[in-house]
Amino acid sequence: MFDVLDHCQVNELHVRDDAASGLKAIIAIHNTRFGPALGGCRFIHYDSEHLALEDAARLARGMSYKAALADVPQGGGKAVIMKPKESVDPSALFAEFGRFVESLQGRYITAIDSGTSAQEMDIIAQHTAYVTSTSAAGNPSPYTARGVFEGIRAAVKHKFGTPSLQGLRIVVQGVGNVGFVLGKLLDRAGADVIVSDVNARAVDLAMGAFASGVVAPEEASSTPCDVFAPCGLSKAIHDENCDQLQCAIIAGSANVQLAHHELGAFLHQRGILYAPDYVINAGGLIYASLNYHQAPTQRIQEKVQGIYATLDQIFSESERDQLPPSQIADRIAEHRLAHALDHAA
Ligand code: NAD
Repeated sequence: MFDVLDHCQVNELHVRDDAASGLKAIIAIHNTRFGPALGGCRFIHYDSEHLALEDAARLARGMSYKAALADVPQGGGKAVIMKPKESVDPSALFAEFGRFVESLQGRYITAIDSGTSAQEMDIIAQHTAYVTSTSAAGNPSPYTARGVFEGIRAAVKHKFGTPSLQGLRIVVQGVGNVGFVLGKLLDRAGADVIVSDVNARAVDLAMGAFASGVVAPEEASSTPCDVFAPCGLSKAIHDENCDQLQCAIIAGSANVQLAHHELGAFLHQRGILYAPDYVINAGGLIYASLNYHQAPTQRIQEKVQGIYATLDQIFSESERDQLPPSQIADRIAEHRLAHALDHAA
C-alpha cells in the first residue's frame, strides 16, 4: 500500500467498510494547498482492493494537477467505491458514503465520475454539504466542451498562425455529452466536422445536427485531418495506432488520452501538437468548483475561456524549451503545488 501512496505522492487516505450497506470506499487526498480536495466518486467493479487503492491515489494526484493548472481554489482528491458483485440498495450505500464524506469535515468534496450520476449525488447531498454535481447544480459537460473548443483554438493558432477554425477538418471521436456539444461549436465556427462513435444513435444525432461525415471507430485516429479530438474513452493514443496518426493536432476532452507518458515525447518528435488532457478538459472542474462557491455564471464562463491562455502559455514554453507540452503542463502544476502555502495547515 505505501509504495502506491509514495509513488502518487498521496499522504492522506480514508477508508470506510460498512457491512450493513455494503459500502467499501476509499478516499485519497493528494493535497489541500489551494483549498479542499475536489474529485469525482467512481462506482465500478475492481478485481482487488489494491487496484481500487491505485486508482484512487493516481486519480487524486491527477485532480491536483488539473486544479493547479485551472487555477481554482481546490486541492486534488478522489473517491472510489468498490461495486459489489451482488446487488445492493443504492440509497443505503450512497447515504453511508455521504456520511463518510461528512466525517472528513470538508477536506474532500465529492462529484460524479464513472458509475455515478446526479441521482447518486442527490442521495449523498442528504447527508453532507460537501458534494457537487447534484441535479440542482447542473450538468458540467457544456462547460467542458467550451473549454475544449477554446483549447482547440489555442492549438490551431500555435500550429497555423491564426485561431480561426474556418475550413479545418476536425475528427471528433465520441459524440456523447461533451463531444456532441463540442461538434456543434466547431461546426458553428466554420470547421468541417467528421464524427466517430461506437453508438450508431449518437452518430445519427450528430449527422442530423452538425457533422459532415462519419468514420468507423477503428479508423478515427488514422483519418487525415487538422485536429483529432478524442472525446470517448481513455487511451485513444497507444503504441499500436501512434504511427498511423495523420493529424496536426490532438485536442479533446477524454481523460488519460495517452496510453503511457512516453507518447507525449513521441508526438512532440513527430510534430503533432498535443493539448495535455487534464488542461484542456478542465471546464467541468472549473464549473463544479466555481458553482460550488456560488460564483456568477459570467465568472465561470470567463474562467473556462481562460483555458485558451493557459494552453497558449504551455505551447509557447514547449517551443522555447523544446519539450513536449505534456511535460510543460506537469512542470507548471508541480511548480504551483510546491510554492503554495498549505491551506490545511
Ligand atoms: P459520454 O459517455 O457521454 O460520451 C462518450 C461517447 O464516446 C459515447 O457516445 C460513446 O459511445 C463513445 N465512445 C466510447 N468508446 C468509443 C470509441 N472507441 N470510439 C468512438 N466512440 C466511442 O462521456 P462524456 O461525458 O461526453 O465524456 C467524454 C470523455 O471526456 C470521457 O473520457 C470523460 O472522462 C471526459 N471528461 C468529461 C467531462 C464532462 O464534463 N463530461 C469532464 C472532463 C473529462
